[in-house]
Amino acid sequence: MKLGIDIGGTYLRYELRENGKTIQKSSLKSTQTGLCRFLEMILKKEKKIATVFISYAGQIKEGVILASPNIKIDKHDIKAYIEAKYNVKLFIQNDVNCAVLAEARACNTKNICAVYVGTGLGLGVVTSSGLLQGNDSIAAELGHIPYKNAPLTCNCGKENCIELFCSGSGLLRWKEHCKLKSALSLEQLHQSKNDKAQKIYDEFVEALLYAVGTTITLFNPKVLVLGGGLIMNNRYLHEIVEQRIHAYALPLALKNIKITVSQLEDAALEGAFLLKDYHG
Ligand SMILES: [Zn+2]
Repeated sequence: MKLGIDIGGTYLRYELRENGKTIQKSSLKSTQTGLCRFLEMILKKEKKIATVFISYAGQIKEGVILASPNIKIDKHDIKAYIEAKYNVKLFIQNDVNCAVLAEARACNTKNICAVYVGTGLGLGVVTSSGLLQGNDSIAAELGHIPYKNAPLTCNCGKENCIELFCSGSGLLRWKEHCKLKSALSLEQLHQSKNDKAQKIYDEFVEALLYAVGTTITLFNPKVLVLGGGLIMNNRYLHEIVEQRIHAYALPLALKNIKITVSQLEDAALEGAFLLKDYHG
C-alpha cells in the first residue's frame, strides 16, 4: 500500500493507493497537526503501508526539511526518523518540484518548467537530465529573485523579492499596507476604481510576466505550465501572458514554446507518487 501526502500552509491532503487504485482520499487543515504526528498516526493504523510519498511546501534536502515559511515543522529529519521506526520507505520533495514531475508526465515531455502562483511564487524545472535541484536542493527559487523594493519584508528576510508582488501572500500584504479589504480578489482589484487597488493588480501582472519571461529565457523549456490557485482562479492570466510575454523573454526561446495552464487537479500530490523514479 502507498501513502501520498501533499502538505501546504493551509491543507494536508492525503491519499492511500493499493495496486494503483485509490482506496482512500481526504484532507484536513494542516494547522491542526504536524506532518510527523499525522504520519505516525496513520502508520500505526494502516500497517500495510510500505511506501510514503510527500509533497512539501518548503525546502527539502535528502529527506531533511530545511525550512518552510508556512508550515510548523514538528520533525526536520523526517525520512531518517520514520524509516528507523517503521518498516516503510519515505520520499519527500518540495511541492512545486513534485508538481512539475506530474506536469512533465501529463505533457509527455522532459523539457518543462512549471510556474505556480499560490500562497507563494514557485518554479519547478525538469530537463532531459531530470529534476533540477541544485547543490543544496534549493535551485530555481524564482520567488526570491530581487525585483523591486517594497515596503514589505519577504518570509526569506529580504525586501525586494518578486514573490512580494506576485503571490497570494504578497497580494494580502499589499492590501493591508494600502488599507484595502483583505477579501478583495485579484479580479476585484482589477475592476476597482481605487488607484491603489489598480496599482496592486498592475504590479502583479507585471511581476508575473517578468517571472515567466525570466524562466523561459533561463531554461528554454518546450512547455511552460502555469498553475497554482491564483492562476487556476484567474484563467485570463494565461491569455495576458501569451499576449505580452514577447517583451519579457528572449525571442528565440519563444519560437517553439507551448505556454499552457495546468490540466491536473492536484499536480503536487500526483507528482509525489512519482518520486521513487527520481531517487532510484
Ligand atoms: Zn524572498
